[in-house]
Amino acid sequence: KCNKRFTTYERIEEADKIVFVVDVKDGVTAIDRDVAHLIRSSGKPYLLVVNKVDSEHQEAFAHEFHSLGLGEPFTLSASVGRKSGDFLDELTADFPENLTGEEDTRLKIAIVGRPNVGKSSLTNALLGFDRSLVTDIPGTTRDSLDSVLKYYGEEIILIDTAGLRKRTKVKEGIEFFSAVRTLKAISECDVAVVMVDGTLGIEKQDQKILDEAVSRRKGILIVVNKWDLVEKDSNTAPRIEKYLKENMGLLDYLPVVFTSALTKQRIFKVIDSCKEINARRKFKIPTSDLNEVMRAEIERIPPPSAANGREIKIKYITQAGDHYPVFLFFANYPKNIPESYGRFLENMLRKHYDFVGVPLTLAFKEK
Ligand code: GDP
Repeated sequence: KCNKRFTTYERIEEADKIVFVVDVKDGVTAIDRDVAHLIRSSGKPYLLVVNKVDSEHQEAFAHEFHSLGLGEPFTLSASVGRKSGDFLDELTADFPENLTGEEDTRLKIAIVGRPNVGKSSLTNALLGFDRSLVTDIPGTTRDSLDSVLKYYGEEIILIDTAGLRKRTKVKEGIEFFSAVRTLKAISECDVAVVMVDGTLGIEKQDQKILDEAVSRRKGILIVVNKWDLVEKDSNTAPRIEKYLKENMGLLDYLPVVFTSALTKQRIFKVIDSCKEINARRKFKIPTSDLNEVMRAEIERIPPPSAANGREIKIKYITQAGDHYPVFLFFANYPKNIPESYGRFLENMLRKHYDFVGVPLTLAFKEK
């Protein structure tokens, strides 16, 4: 029985869509209820099919399957072929028309950090069940496996949750695999949740993970986990935040959330923050607004003259980039604009617009 459950579990994990077949003659069984629960927690699309409904007057018996909580059951008869065409229409109704061209617009979150900070615990707490259950079942090891979190009707992808599984039997190579998986997860995400352990200090490895997320221009949220173990007073959170900013070169614009995956404290704040960061990352400033605001700042503090004595003029600014914000500054001598002035411009962008958790890219072009 147990094995059967895992097999169903694995199949659900692999599928893009689930067809759950029940037997009208058996009615709702305990196993049906278990499977329905697994399907609901997977967050994947599904179709509940009541089989062996051989004729119209047997339709009424399908009603009891509403109690599975999987919505309207689709009735058919596999052996006599009744409504099989309708079934295919129903099944494919929500398939993307163009399987290659469509971009997946669902928010993709990667939870990354050193071993033992609590990544799997947080993932399990968010999903409402234990992802590490599949650990010791032979043949379940895969390179990548994402999970879908249903959050107020929205589907959110948690990237590579397979990588978070406990590898109790494979000791060697863990470090290597976790590093490779971390890089891959970061490259695929919209927002990286960089998790640190609230009871420990910060190490090089934390910094490396953070640098990777910044250099790939991902949205970033810092999560300080195991908050339940930290002895606190009203100053502890600000003090830790300050410590992080000083010791991790933690950029001022990164938000911090203090969580306990164990007690589930603020775990959904993590998701809310990721959603906000993602929205900011996609935000496009209207060009006229951008130019008006930034020109005023540039007039207030203009770029220093170039070494050859020429005056540097920034003529206009546009926001480019489909996935993350890139600002192009068009100037007469773009190569002569010093880095420090670039930092000033970034600060001014952040002063006027909300880019908390979002790395910005500034580039200077000749015009
Ligand atoms: P991972 O390697 O980052 O996936 O870390 P795990 O989720 O496996 O957690 C490592 C250990 O820390 C486990 O023993 C967890 O039970 C424990 N742990 C994780 N999160 C918390 C937390 O918020 N509070 C406490 N007290 N323990 C936690």
